[in-house]
Amino acid sequence: MSMRIGYGYDSHEFKAGVPLVIGGVKLEHTHGLAGHSDGDVLLHAITDALLGAVAAGDIGSFFPPSDPRWKGADSAVFLAEAMRQIEAAGYRVVNLDTTMILAAPKIVPHAERLRARVAELLGIERSCVGIKAKTPEGTGTDNAAIAHAVVLLESIPLESMLEEAAVAVGVEDEQVSSVIEGGGNGRH
Ligand code: MG
Repeated sequence: MSMRIGYGYDSHEFKAGVPLVIGGVKLEHTHGLAGHSDGDVLLHAITDALLGAVAAGDIGSFFPPSDPRWKGADSAVFLAEAMRQIEAAGYRVVNLDTTMILAAPKIVPHAERLRARVAELLGIERSCVGIKAKTPEGTGTDNAAIAHAVVLLESIPLESMLEEAAVAVGVEDEQVSSVIEGGGNGRH
């Protein structure tokens, strides 16, 4: 089994009068995050971590900020593309850890909602999603939200790839098992 690690980073400036969306969850706050999309700094960092793990580029190479299609976009769309990329490369997510740095709002009261949403988007258990936040002590970045993400991937076992393919074409389970046990058609 092969494993890959990925790292992502992002920052967005706070802006008055726009909704605050972090980790796919809308949070009550006086300011939101400026950006071409919904400004979801956490999902952007996670998207880059996933893409980085399979060396597939970064969020900007798939969704250029110059493209008007992504104006105000739900960042879950970006994450879904990154998930497609890792699956196409033959990997799935083991676990994710994140740290945000922001002066306000406090993340702890919302952390469980964020974990649940991010776990759903990545198709993993909530216990495999770390959501942490710190205040920007001494960094002078009170007007920004910053996010770091690291993700661990493992290669999808051949058996589960065959099972999925079998379901897709409507082949019976026993036939798949016999192929796995028989080691294919024996000509190799
Ligand atoms: Mg961003």
